[in-house]
Amino acid sequence: MRNFGYVRAATVPDAQESVGGQPDARFLAGGTTMVDLMKCGVETPSTLVDITRLPGLDGIEVGPDGVRLGSLARMSDVANDPRIGREFPVLSESLWRGASEQLRNMATIGGNLMQRTRCSYFREPASFPACNKRDPGSGCSALEGINRGHAVLGTSPSCIATYPGDFAVALVAFDATVVVQNGGRRAFTADDFFLLPGDTPHIEHPIGPADLILAVEVPVSAALRRSHYLKVRDRESYEFAAASAAVGLEMEDDGTTVRDVRIALGGIATTPWRARAVEAALIGRTLDEATVRAACAQVTEGAVDHGMNSFKIALAPRVAARALLTVGGIV
Ligand SMILES: Cc1cc2nc3c(=O)[nH]c(=O)nc-3n(C[C@H](O)[C@H](O)[C@H](O)COP(=O)(O)OP(=O)(O)OC[C@H]3O[C@@H](n4cnc5c(N)ncnc54)[C@H](O)[C@@H]3O)c2cc1C
Ligand code: SF4
Repeated sequence: MRNFGYVRAATVPDAQESVGGQPDARFLAGGTTMVDLMKCGVETPSTLVDITRLPGLDGIEVGPDGVRLGSLARMSDVANDPRIGREFPVLSESLWRGASEQLRNMATIGGNLMQRTRCSYFREPASFPACNKRDPGSGCSALEGINRGHAVLGTSPSCIATYPGDFAVALVAFDATVVVQNGGRRAFTADDFFLLPGDTPHIEHPIGPADLILAVEVPVSAALRRSHYLKVRDRESYEFAAASAAVGLEMEDDGTTVRDVRIALGGIATTPWRARAVEAALIGRTLDEATVRAACAQVTEGAVDHGMNSFKIALAPRVAARALLTVGGIV
């Protein structure tokens, strides 16, 4: 067993000082990722700085222009909020489809964004020393290993780990912003918050260990109001996505022509994956099954498989199409 320190922060500056002032100190929110990673030896913090009592960070605010979710709001509280469920289905559905009831009751929005990959080589340092994400320059055990769950988009020769979360897929589709306290207050688009692995897969976000996520903001749009999250997985609950899609639709007054459409994919890429080419192919077109399926065929353009995960290249366009046809009322 490794010893580590524990402190409970009372204010945001306290929390940041406690993490910034000690090498390898880390924030602790719900602990559902952090404690897991400590048990398997991936995270070895010197001190855990408990942020769960920081005041004012657990709000769920719904205004005319946007939704603001405090970083300490629990996944289950946001998923169960009737305003979120009724008015912005994709936000509620993407949280509901993640993890399990017990985990969602503990896990926070900020922690959810910062969760790490489920690549089993990453999570077993004792058996698999080669992992560039965990230990830069050590290699990648997944390239020639069991890679059924790994990514087909956004990969690099250094890392093919899939981004595992659900909620961030919705955030990327709907142009959300992640508000971070790092000296000053800084806002990142959700798209910019998740970095491609390139040759630095250990750097996953554009923030440092002492930077604290304060909130997530999602602008209200007609597409957000008519939205849906579809998650396809090996079993119906308590499982990560094989492929998922967060979609939203706004139609012209004629009811048949697409004015705005949003599509992002999960489970198939190294980051939550916005399918902008598919969106462009659908805007201004009549929404029918043939058009949707033809556009969604582009979802995996440029995809590279590593053998066992080739099924994702066939699956992802179908998931995207099914989600869009559902929200469009066609299936
Ligand atoms: C068995 C299992 C199944 C799961 N299935 C799914 C799933 O299907 N879909 C899905 O989306 N997720 C899934 N998850 C992941 C789960 O959603 C995350 O573990 C959870 O959201 C993390 O939140 P937390 O508050 O517990 O974070 P913690 O574990 O406390 O922290 C996680 C990381 O975030 C950092 N952190 C926390 N809060 C902040 C903040 N405000 N600012 C900066 N850094 C912060 C911590 O330092 C740590 O590095 C699963 C987890 C488990 C264990
Ligand atoms: S895919 Fe990435 S996380 Fe998995 S072993 Fe390779 S480098 Fe590590």
